[in-house]
Amino acid sequence: AIPLSARVGRIKPSPSMVARLRAQELKAQGRDIIDLTTGEPDFDTPAHIREATTAAMAAGETRYAPVNGTLRLRKAIIAKFARENGVTYAADEIVVGSGAKQVIFNALAATIGEGDEVIVPAPYWVSYPDMVLACDGTPVIVACGENAGFKLTAETLEAAITPRTRWLLLNTPSNPTGAFYSADEMTALTEVLKRHPHVALMTDDIYEHIRFDGGEPVCPVAIAPELRERTLLVNGVSKTYAMTGFRIGYGAGPKALVNAINIIQSQTTSGAASMCMAAAAAALEGDQSFVGEARSAYRQRRDRAVELLDAIDGMSCRKPDGAFYVYPSCTGLIGRRRPDGWVLQSDLDVALYLLEDAGVAVLDGSAYGLSPYLRLSIATSLGAIEEACARIKMACDALQ
Ligand code: PLP
Repeated sequence: AIPLSARVGRIKPSPSMVARLRAQELKAQGRDIIDLTTGEPDFDTPAHIREATTAAMAAGETRYAPVNGTLRLRKAIIAKFARENGVTYAADEIVVGSGAKQVIFNALAATIGEGDEVIVPAPYWVSYPDMVLACDGTPVIVACGENAGFKLTAETLEAAITPRTRWLLLNTPSNPTGAFYSADEMTALTEVLKRHPHVALMTDDIYEHIRFDGGEPVCPVAIAPELRERTLLVNGVSKTYAMTGFRIGYGAGPKALVNAINIIQSQTTSGAASMCMAAAAAALEGDQSFVGEARSAYRQRRDRAVELLDAIDGMSCRKPDGAFYVYPSCTGLIGRRRPDGWVLQSDLDVALYLLEDAGVAVLDGSAYGLSPYLRLSIATSLGAIEEACARIKMACDALQ
Protein backbone atom coordinates (compact mmCIF):
# COMPACT_ATOMS: atom_id res chain seq x y z
CA ALA A 1 0.00 0.00 0.00
CA ILE A 2 1.08 3.59 -0.60
CA PRO A 3 2.07 5.11 2.77
CA LEU A 4 -0.17 7.98 3.84
CA SER A 5 1.02 11.29 5.20
CA ALA A 6 0.97 12.34 8.83
CA ARG A 7 -1.35 15.11 7.62
CA VAL A 8 -4.08 12.68 6.66
CA GLY A 9 -3.57 10.80 9.91
CA ARG A 10 -4.22 13.97 11.92
CA ILE A 11 -7.56 14.63 10.29
CA LYS A 12 -10.41 12.64 11.76
CA PRO A 13 -13.17 11.48 9.49
CA SER A 14 -16.25 13.36 10.67
CA PRO A 15 -18.22 11.38 13.26
CA SER A 16 -21.35 12.65 11.57
CA MET A 17 -20.50 10.32 8.71
CA VAL A 18 -21.80 7.47 10.85
CA ALA A 19 -25.33 8.83 10.85
CA ARG A 20 -25.14 9.89 7.21
CA LEU A 21 -23.92 6.48 6.02
CA ARG A 22 -26.59 4.68 8.05
CA ALA A 23 -29.22 6.99 6.52
CA GLN A 24 -28.03 6.10 3.03
CA GLU A 25 -28.09 2.39 3.86
CA LEU A 26 -31.66 2.61 5.13
CA LYS A 27 -32.74 4.62 2.08
CA ALA A 28 -31.17 2.01 -0.19
CA GLN A 29 -33.26 -0.62 1.63
CA GLY A 30 -36.36 1.33 0.68
CA ARG A 31 -37.01 2.96 4.08
CA ASP A 32 -38.72 6.36 3.99
CA ILE A 33 -36.08 8.65 5.53
CA ILE A 34 -36.53 12.40 6.09
CA ASP A 35 -33.04 13.80 5.73
CA LEU A 36 -32.36 16.81 7.95
CA THR A 37 -28.57 16.61 7.67
CA THR A 38 -27.96 18.71 4.57
CA GLY A 39 -26.17 22.04 4.77
CA GLU A 40 -27.39 23.62 1.58
CA PRO A 41 -30.40 25.67 0.51
CA ASP A 42 -33.23 23.57 -0.91
CA PHE A 43 -34.10 26.39 -3.35
CA ASP A 44 -33.03 26.43 -6.98
CA THR A 45 -30.36 28.91 -7.95
CA PRO A 46 -32.27 32.01 -9.19
CA ALA A 47 -32.85 31.93 -12.95
CA HIS A 48 -30.95 35.14 -13.74
CA ILE A 49 -27.83 33.64 -12.14
CA ARG A 50 -28.11 30.37 -14.06
CA GLU A 51 -28.64 32.35 -17.26
CA ALA A 52 -25.54 34.44 -16.54
CA THR A 53 -23.53 31.22 -16.36
CA THR A 54 -24.60 29.99 -19.78
CA ALA A 55 -24.26 33.47 -21.26
CA ALA A 56 -20.68 33.60 -19.95
CA MET A 57 -19.90 30.25 -21.56
CA ALA A 58 -21.47 31.35 -24.85
CA ALA A 59 -19.29 34.46 -24.72
CA GLY A 60 -16.17 32.34 -24.38
CA GLU A 61 -15.56 32.56 -20.63
CA THR A 62 -14.39 28.96 -20.61
CA ARG A 63 -10.66 29.50 -20.22
CA TYR A 64 -8.18 30.02 -17.42
CA ALA A 65 -9.07 33.11 -15.47
CA PRO A 66 -6.80 35.21 -13.22
CA VAL A 67 -5.68 33.29 -10.10
CA ASN A 68 -7.10 36.03 -7.86
CA GLY A 69 -10.45 36.14 -9.67
CA THR A 70 -11.81 38.12 -12.59
CA LEU A 71 -11.73 41.88 -12.23
CA ARG A 72 -15.51 42.01 -12.75
CA LEU A 73 -16.12 39.67 -9.81
CA ARG A 74 -13.61 41.43 -7.58
CA LYS A 75 -15.33 44.74 -8.36
CA ALA A 76 -18.71 43.22 -7.50
CA ILE A 77 -17.23 41.98 -4.20
CA ILE A 78 -15.74 45.41 -3.43
CA ALA A 79 -19.17 46.97 -4.09
CA LYS A 80 -20.84 44.37 -1.84
CA PHE A 81 -18.50 45.11 1.07
CA ALA A 82 -19.02 48.86 0.64
CA ARG A 83 -22.81 48.59 0.26
CA GLU A 84 -23.57 45.99 2.91
CA ASN A 85 -20.73 46.18 5.40
CA GLY A 86 -19.51 49.76 5.19
CA VAL A 87 -15.90 48.82 4.52
CA THR A 88 -13.64 49.81 1.63
CA TYR A 89 -11.25 47.45 -0.10
CA ALA A 90 -9.09 47.71 -3.22
CA ALA A 91 -9.00 45.12 -6.01
CA ASP A 92 -5.69 43.69 -4.74
CA GLU A 93 -7.18 43.16 -1.29
CA ILE A 94 -9.79 40.67 -2.52
CA VAL A 95 -9.38 36.90 -2.89
CA VAL A 96 -11.68 34.59 -4.77
CA GLY A 97 -11.55 30.83 -4.25
CA SER A 98 -13.50 27.66 -4.90
CA GLY A 99 -15.87 28.21 -2.00
CA ALA A 100 -15.43 29.99 1.31
CA LYS A 101 -13.99 26.72 2.50
CA GLN A 102 -11.04 27.00 0.17
CA VAL A 103 -10.47 30.63 1.10
CA ILE A 104 -10.31 29.68 4.78
CA PHE A 105 -8.02 26.74 4.07
CA ASN A 106 -5.70 28.84 1.89
CA ALA A 107 -5.55 31.57 4.53
CA LEU A 108 -4.53 29.02 7.16
CA ALA A 109 -2.06 27.32 4.81
CA ALA A 110 -0.54 30.71 4.09
CA THR A 111 -0.12 31.72 7.71
CA ILE A 112 0.21 28.88 10.22
CA GLY A 113 2.61 26.08 10.96
CA GLU A 114 3.57 23.73 13.75
CA GLY A 115 2.84 25.11 17.19
CA ASP A 116 0.61 27.91 15.94
CA GLU A 117 -2.73 28.11 17.67
CA VAL A 118 -6.10 28.99 16.19
CA ILE A 119 -8.95 29.78 18.57
CA VAL A 120 -12.12 27.99 17.51
CA PRO A 121 -15.24 28.67 19.59
CA ALA A 122 -17.39 25.54 20.06
CA PRO A 123 -19.90 24.58 18.79
CA TYR A 124 -18.01 25.04 15.54
CA TRP A 125 -18.44 24.18 11.90
CA VAL A 126 -16.94 20.69 11.64
CA SER A 127 -14.25 21.70 9.15
CA TYR A 128 -12.43 24.35 11.21
CA PRO A 129 -10.44 22.13 13.59
CA ASP A 130 -9.51 19.72 10.82
CA MET A 131 -8.41 22.51 8.48
CA VAL A 132 -6.16 23.87 11.24
CA LEU A 133 -4.74 20.38 11.82
CA ALA A 134 -4.21 19.86 8.10
CA CYS A 135 -2.12 23.04 8.08
CA ASP A 136 0.01 21.70 10.99
CA GLY A 137 -1.53 24.08 13.53
CA THR A 138 -3.26 23.47 16.84
CA PRO A 139 -6.98 24.20 17.18
CA VAL A 140 -7.73 25.70 20.59
CA ILE A 141 -11.35 24.82 21.18
CA VAL A 142 -13.17 27.19 23.52
CA ALA A 143 -16.46 25.82 24.85
CA CYS A 144 -19.27 28.36 24.46
CA GLY A 145 -22.24 26.88 26.24
CA GLU A 146 -25.90 27.58 25.73
CA ASN A 147 -25.98 29.91 28.76
CA ALA A 148 -23.47 32.12 26.91
CA GLY A 149 -25.78 32.01 23.88
CA PHE A 150 -23.22 29.64 22.29
CA LYS A 151 -20.94 32.67 21.95
CA LEU A 152 -17.45 33.66 22.87
CA THR A 153 -17.19 36.48 25.43
CA ALA A 154 -14.40 38.95 26.05
CA GLU A 155 -13.39 36.90 29.11
CA THR A 156 -13.34 33.49 27.40
CA LEU A 157 -11.45 34.98 24.46
CA GLU A 158 -8.90 36.67 26.71
CA ALA A 159 -8.32 33.41 28.60
CA ALA A 160 -7.71 31.46 25.40
CA ILE A 161 -5.04 33.77 23.98
CA THR A 162 -1.42 32.65 24.36
CA PRO A 163 1.81 33.92 22.78
CA ARG A 164 1.29 31.23 20.09
CA THR A 165 -2.20 32.35 19.09
CA ARG A 166 -2.30 33.32 15.41
CA TRP A 167 -6.00 33.54 14.62
CA LEU A 168 -9.42 33.84 16.14
CA LEU A 169 -11.87 32.11 13.80
CA LEU A 170 -15.40 33.49 14.22
CA ASN A 171 -18.50 32.27 12.42
CA THR A 172 -21.53 34.56 12.67
CA PRO A 173 -24.33 33.55 12.23
CA SER A 174 -23.00 30.17 13.25
CA ASN A 175 -23.34 26.73 11.85
CA PRO A 176 -24.61 24.82 13.85
CA THR A 177 -26.24 27.12 16.46
CA GLY A 178 -27.33 30.14 14.41
CA ALA A 179 -25.82 32.39 17.11
CA PHE A 180 -25.08 35.90 15.86
CA TYR A 181 -22.67 38.39 17.45
CA SER A 182 -24.40 41.73 18.01
CA ALA A 183 -22.48 44.97 17.50
CA ASP A 184 -21.90 45.21 21.27
CA GLU A 185 -20.66 41.64 21.50
CA MET A 186 -18.39 42.11 18.49
CA THR A 187 -17.08 45.36 19.99
CA ALA A 188 -16.19 43.52 23.22
CA LEU A 189 -14.21 40.94 21.22
CA THR A 190 -12.44 43.56 19.12
CA GLU A 191 -11.43 45.39 22.32
CA VAL A 192 -9.66 42.22 23.47
CA LEU A 193 -7.99 41.78 20.07
CA LYS A 194 -6.75 45.36 20.11
CA ARG A 195 -4.77 44.48 23.23
CA HIS A 196 -3.17 41.45 21.50
CA PRO A 197 -1.60 42.67 18.27
CA HIS A 198 -0.21 39.22 17.40
CA VAL A 199 -3.72 37.75 17.01
CA ALA A 200 -5.46 38.02 13.63
CA LEU A 201 -9.20 37.71 13.08
CA MET A 202 -10.92 35.60 10.47
CA THR A 203 -14.69 35.90 10.24
CA ASP A 204 -16.75 33.41 8.28
CA ASP A 205 -19.88 35.36 7.35
CA ILE A 206 -21.28 32.83 4.90
CA TYR A 207 -24.74 32.96 6.59
CA GLU A 208 -24.72 36.77 6.80
CA HIS A 209 -28.00 37.18 4.94
CA ILE A 210 -29.84 34.39 6.70
CA ARG A 211 -30.58 36.36 9.83
CA PHE A 212 -33.95 36.84 11.42
CA ASP A 213 -33.75 39.85 13.71
CA GLY A 214 -33.79 42.38 10.87
CA GLY A 215 -30.77 44.15 12.31
CA GLU A 216 -27.86 45.79 10.56
CA PRO A 217 -24.86 43.69 9.49
CA VAL A 218 -22.02 43.66 12.00
CA CYS A 219 -18.54 43.91 10.53
CA PRO A 220 -15.51 43.93 12.85
CA VAL A 221 -13.52 46.09 10.42
CA ALA A 222 -16.25 48.74 10.43
CA ILE A 223 -16.40 48.55 14.24
CA ALA A 224 -12.65 48.57 14.79
CA PRO A 225 -10.79 49.93 11.74
CA GLU A 226 -7.54 49.42 13.72
CA LEU A 227 -8.03 45.68 13.10
CA ARG A 228 -8.31 46.01 9.33
CA GLU A 229 -4.66 45.11 8.75
CA ARG A 230 -5.07 41.82 10.61
CA THR A 231 -8.58 40.78 9.64
CA LEU A 232 -9.75 38.51 6.85
CA LEU A 233 -13.47 38.79 6.09
CA VAL A 234 -14.63 35.56 4.46
CA ASN A 235 -17.91 35.23 2.64
CA GLY A 236 -19.40 33.49 -0.39
CA VAL A 237 -22.40 32.99 -2.61
CA SER A 238 -23.24 29.37 -1.66
CA LYS A 239 -25.83 30.01 1.03
CA THR A 240 -27.05 33.52 0.17
CA TYR A 241 -27.90 32.73 -3.47
CA ALA A 242 -28.35 28.94 -3.32
CA MET A 243 -25.16 28.45 -5.34
CA THR A 244 -23.40 25.66 -3.43
CA GLY A 245 -22.39 23.80 -6.59
CA PHE A 246 -20.76 26.82 -8.21
CA ARG A 247 -18.00 26.73 -5.59
CA ILE A 248 -17.33 30.46 -5.30
CA GLY A 249 -16.19 32.04 -2.05
CA TYR A 250 -14.30 35.23 -1.41
CA GLY A 251 -12.45 37.23 1.19
CA ALA A 252 -11.18 40.73 1.88
CA GLY A 253 -8.01 41.39 3.80
CA PRO A 254 -4.65 43.13 3.86
CA LYS A 255 -2.68 42.99 0.63
CA ALA A 256 0.25 40.91 1.96
CA LEU A 257 -2.10 38.19 3.21
CA VAL A 258 -4.11 38.28 -0.02
CA ASN A 259 -0.85 37.88 -2.00
CA ALA A 260 0.17 34.88 0.10
CA ILE A 261 -3.24 33.26 -0.37
CA ASN A 262 -2.95 33.78 -4.11
CA ILE A 263 0.49 32.14 -4.15
CA ILE A 264 -1.00 29.02 -2.51
CA GLN A 265 -3.93 29.14 -4.90
CA SER A 266 -1.63 29.52 -7.93
CA GLN A 267 0.06 26.22 -7.09
CA THR A 268 -3.13 24.31 -6.28
CA THR A 269 -6.34 25.08 -8.18
CA SER A 270 -5.09 28.07 -10.26
CA GLY A 271 -8.30 29.80 -9.24
CA ALA A 272 -12.04 29.45 -9.44
CA ALA A 273 -13.98 28.37 -12.52
CA SER A 274 -14.42 31.22 -15.00
CA MET A 275 -18.14 30.79 -15.79
CA CYS A 276 -18.90 30.37 -12.09
CA MET A 277 -17.17 33.66 -11.37
CA ALA A 278 -19.43 35.29 -13.97
CA ALA A 279 -22.42 33.74 -12.20
CA ALA A 280 -21.24 35.00 -8.80
CA ALA A 281 -20.74 38.50 -10.21
CA ALA A 282 -24.29 38.39 -11.60
CA ALA A 283 -25.56 37.29 -8.18
CA LEU A 284 -23.84 40.13 -6.33
CA GLU A 285 -24.68 42.79 -8.95
CA GLY A 286 -28.22 41.70 -9.80
CA ASP A 287 -31.69 41.68 -8.30
CA GLN A 288 -31.51 40.74 -4.61
CA SER A 289 -35.15 39.78 -4.09
CA PHE A 290 -34.32 36.05 -3.77
CA VAL A 291 -32.30 36.79 -0.64
CA GLY A 292 -35.27 38.24 1.23
CA GLU A 293 -37.67 35.57 0.00
CA ALA A 294 -35.37 32.77 1.14
CA ARG A 295 -34.89 34.50 4.48
CA SER A 296 -38.67 34.66 5.09
CA ALA A 297 -39.02 30.98 4.24
CA TYR A 298 -36.21 30.04 6.62
CA ARG A 299 -37.72 32.20 9.36
CA GLN A 300 -41.09 30.51 9.07
CA ARG A 301 -39.44 27.08 9.17
CA ARG A 302 -37.24 28.02 12.10
CA ASP A 303 -40.24 29.23 14.11
CA ARG A 304 -42.17 26.02 13.42
CA ALA A 305 -39.23 23.69 14.07
CA VAL A 306 -38.36 25.41 17.36
CA GLU A 307 -41.99 25.32 18.51
CA LEU A 308 -42.41 21.63 17.71
CA LEU A 309 -39.04 20.45 19.05
CA ASP A 310 -39.23 22.50 22.23
CA ALA A 311 -42.56 20.85 23.03
CA ILE A 312 -41.01 17.37 23.02
CA ASP A 313 -40.38 15.91 26.47
CA GLY A 314 -36.59 15.55 26.83
CA MET A 315 -35.64 18.23 24.33
CA SER A 316 -35.23 21.96 24.60
CA CYS A 317 -34.65 24.19 21.62
CA ARG A 318 -33.29 27.71 21.65
CA LYS A 319 -34.36 30.01 18.82
CA PRO A 320 -31.41 30.54 16.47
CA ASP A 321 -30.75 34.11 15.28
CA GLY A 322 -29.73 32.98 11.83
CA ALA A 323 -28.45 30.30 9.43
CA PHE A 324 -30.68 27.36 8.53
CA TYR A 325 -30.19 24.94 11.39
CA VAL A 326 -31.73 24.35 14.79
CA TYR A 327 -29.59 22.97 17.60
CA PRO A 328 -31.82 21.50 20.32
CA SER A 329 -30.40 20.10 23.52
CA CYS A 330 -31.28 16.44 24.08
CA THR A 331 -29.95 16.29 27.65
CA GLY A 332 -33.34 15.07 28.84
CA LEU A 333 -33.18 12.01 26.59
CA ILE A 334 -29.81 10.77 27.81
CA GLY A 335 -30.25 7.79 30.14
CA ARG A 336 -33.67 6.88 28.76
CA ARG A 337 -34.27 3.38 27.45
CA ARG A 338 -35.22 2.50 23.91
CA PRO A 339 -38.08 0.02 23.34
CA ASP A 340 -35.42 -2.63 22.58
CA GLY A 341 -33.80 -2.05 25.99
CA TRP A 342 -30.75 -0.08 24.85
CA VAL A 343 -30.02 2.97 27.03
CA LEU A 344 -29.23 6.21 25.18
CA GLN A 345 -25.81 7.40 26.37
CA SER A 346 -24.87 10.15 23.97
CA ASP A 347 -26.26 12.46 21.33
CA LEU A 348 -24.91 10.07 18.70
CA ASP A 349 -27.06 7.33 20.28
CA VAL A 350 -30.06 9.67 20.07
CA ALA A 351 -29.32 10.50 16.42
CA LEU A 352 -29.03 6.81 15.52
CA TYR A 353 -32.24 6.01 17.42
CA LEU A 354 -34.15 8.76 15.59
CA LEU A 355 -32.82 7.47 12.32
CA GLU A 356 -33.69 3.84 12.93
CA ASP A 357 -36.92 4.26 14.85
CA ALA A 358 -38.36 7.46 13.34
CA GLY A 359 -36.71 7.50 9.94
CA VAL A 360 -35.35 11.02 10.53
CA ALA A 361 -31.68 11.69 9.82
CA VAL A 362 -30.12 14.38 12.04
CA LEU A 363 -26.54 15.04 13.12
CA ASP A 364 -25.14 14.67 16.62
CA GLY A 365 -23.77 17.68 18.51
CA SER A 366 -20.52 15.83 19.27
CA ALA A 367 -19.51 16.40 15.64
CA TYR A 368 -19.78 20.16 16.32
CA GLY A 369 -17.92 20.13 19.60
CA LEU A 370 -20.80 20.51 22.08
CA SER A 371 -22.92 17.67 23.46
CA PRO A 372 -25.56 16.51 24.02
CA TYR A 373 -27.23 18.36 21.18
CA LEU A 374 -28.64 17.54 17.77
CA ARG A 375 -28.31 19.56 14.60
CA LEU A 376 -31.31 19.61 12.30
CA SER A 377 -31.21 21.41 8.97
CA ILE A 378 -34.32 23.43 8.15
CA ALA A 379 -33.31 23.88 4.52
CA THR A 380 -36.24 21.71 3.53
CA SER A 381 -40.00 22.16 3.15
CA LEU A 382 -42.24 23.12 6.05
CA GLY A 383 -44.15 19.88 5.43
CA ALA A 384 -41.02 17.79 5.81
CA ILE A 385 -40.09 19.66 9.00
CA GLU A 386 -43.54 19.10 10.52
CA GLU A 387 -43.57 15.42 9.58
CA ALA A 388 -40.02 14.94 10.94
CA CYS A 389 -40.86 16.65 14.24
CA ALA A 390 -44.02 14.54 14.62
CA ARG A 391 -41.96 11.39 14.08
CA ILE A 392 -39.27 12.56 16.50
CA LYS A 393 -41.93 13.22 19.14
CA MET A 394 -43.38 9.72 18.74
CA ALA A 395 -39.94 8.14 19.04
CA CYS A 396 -39.08 10.24 22.11
CA ASP A 397 -42.39 9.45 23.75
CA ALA A 398 -41.68 5.73 23.26
CA LEU A 399 -38.54 5.99 25.43
CA GLN A 400 -38.67 4.93 29.05
N1 PLP B 1 -18.59 28.05 6.39
C1 PLP B 1 -19.61 27.49 7.06
C2 PLP B 1 -19.87 27.89 8.45
C3 PLP B 1 -20.43 26.53 6.44
O1 PLP B 1 -21.44 25.97 7.11
C4 PLP B 1 -20.14 26.15 5.10
C5 PLP B 1 -20.93 25.10 4.41
O2 PLP B 1 -21.53 24.26 5.01
C6 PLP B 1 -19.07 26.77 4.45
C7 PLP B 1 -18.31 27.72 5.12
C8 PLP B 1 -18.69 26.39 3.06
O3 PLP B 1 -19.06 27.34 2.15
P1 PLP B 1 -18.62 27.23 0.61
O4 PLP B 1 -19.68 26.46 -0.09
O5 PLP B 1 -18.53 28.65 0.18
O6 PLP B 1 -17.30 26.54 0.59
